[in-house]
Amino acid sequence: MFSVGVRSFVGPIVKRPVSLRLASTLVFLESSKDGKIVQSSLSALSAAEQLGNPIKALFAGSHSTKAAEQLKLGFSTSLVDQIIVANNEVYDNYLPEAVTPLCLELLKDNEFSHFVVASSAVGKNFLPRVGALLDYQPVCDITKIVDSTTFVRPIYAGNALATVQCTQEKKLISVRASSFPACGAGSFEAPIIEAPQVPISELGAKWESENLVKSARPDLGSADKVVSGGRGLKNKETFDKLITPLADSISAAIGATRAAVDSGFCENSLQIGQTGKVIAPDLYIGVGVSGAIQHLAGMKDSKVIVAINSDQEAPIFQVADFGLVGDLNEIVPELTKKLSK
Ligand SMILES: Cc1cc2nc3c(=O)[nH]c(=O)nc-3n(C[C@H](O)[C@H](O)[C@H](O)COP(=O)(O)OP(=O)(O)OC[C@H]3O[C@@H](n4cnc5c(N)ncnc54)[C@H](O)[C@@H]3O)c2cc1C
Repeated sequence: MFSVGVRSFVGPIVKRPVSLRLASTLVFLESSKDGKIVQSSLSALSAAEQLGNPIKALFAGSHSTKAAEQLKLGFSTSLVDQIIVANNEVYDNYLPEAVTPLCLELLKDNEFSHFVVASSAVGKNFLPRVGALLDYQPVCDITKIVDSTTFVRPIYAGNALATVQCTQEKKLISVRASSFPACGAGSFEAPIIEAPQVPISELGAKWESENLVKSARPDLGSADKVVSGGRGLKNKETFDKLITPLADSISAAIGATRAAVDSGFCENSLQIGQTGKVIAPDLYIGVGVSGAIQHLAGMKDSKVIVAINSDQEAPIFQVADFGLVGDLNEIVPELTKKLSK
């Protein structure tokens, strides 16, 4: 039993209630300042499609119309029947104090049975507020949709999967992006309409500035190949000397364990795991990574896992598809040389 309105169960799937046959879904989509739709939002949209309801897509920020056009012209979805744009710069940085009243205004409408967001930093920031103010409990970080009321989500840092049934009138859901494919390429027709004006009073929070790390490398959260370094690399010099060329040789993103981050080998945006990013690339290569449970929580869904470790008893070998037992200082340069060819 989890809490009011949401319960876990093992047993037959509950038949969809009649009222839900008329259901519809509101999906919040994030986009960057140039109107490019964020990958995790495209996964949230494809997850929403599995609910089978007509979908209204919501963009917020001064770039919303551009993002809406990109969605219509660049992606394929059969269920989005309307795109709602809130073209107001107050939403530009997705401050939860600003986004929450907008979502509440739209969700007041009883038409929406489901509200879906990506389990990104943005979604994690405002969905609990929406839930609290509507008095509904969100179902967070789902990895599977069983039916329109039943969802699977990891618990205990991914060590167990809970199947939860949500009996609330409105289901507020955040979606683990790595568990759902992004919407495919294509195009569709849907009207773009303006969101209702929501009075924005004193927000109580102000966006001061941002300090973004720019990199030509693939984004860690959505890369299809990741090379991850651990404490076994011993220091930042070895991390840079061995991990960067290996990642370059296969055009991979770079990740790291918390121990590597805490030791100053790399910046903390590269951390994979329970308190870092959750990834599911086609290929994950762990170098000097022991495979602690908290790290596995962030990468064990990778399709092919390669582990390089001198300790053949290291737990990472229990999840690895390919294991290389030996000194990383010898194995990695040789592997990089072969892959570069
Ligand atoms: C609440 C909480 C949350 C946490 N969240 C995270 C998280 O999000 N992400 C995360 O990663 N961790 C997290 N941790 C930390 C986690 O428990 C581990 O401490 C961490 O993952 C270990 O990192 P590591 O594998 O790099 O280091 P170690 O466990 O020290 O492993 C280093 C490995 O390198 C190998 N090695 C050493 N020298 C060589 C060599 N020359 N050649 C080859 N192999 C070598 C060793 O055999 C060893 O297996 C969390 C911990 C807590 C308590």
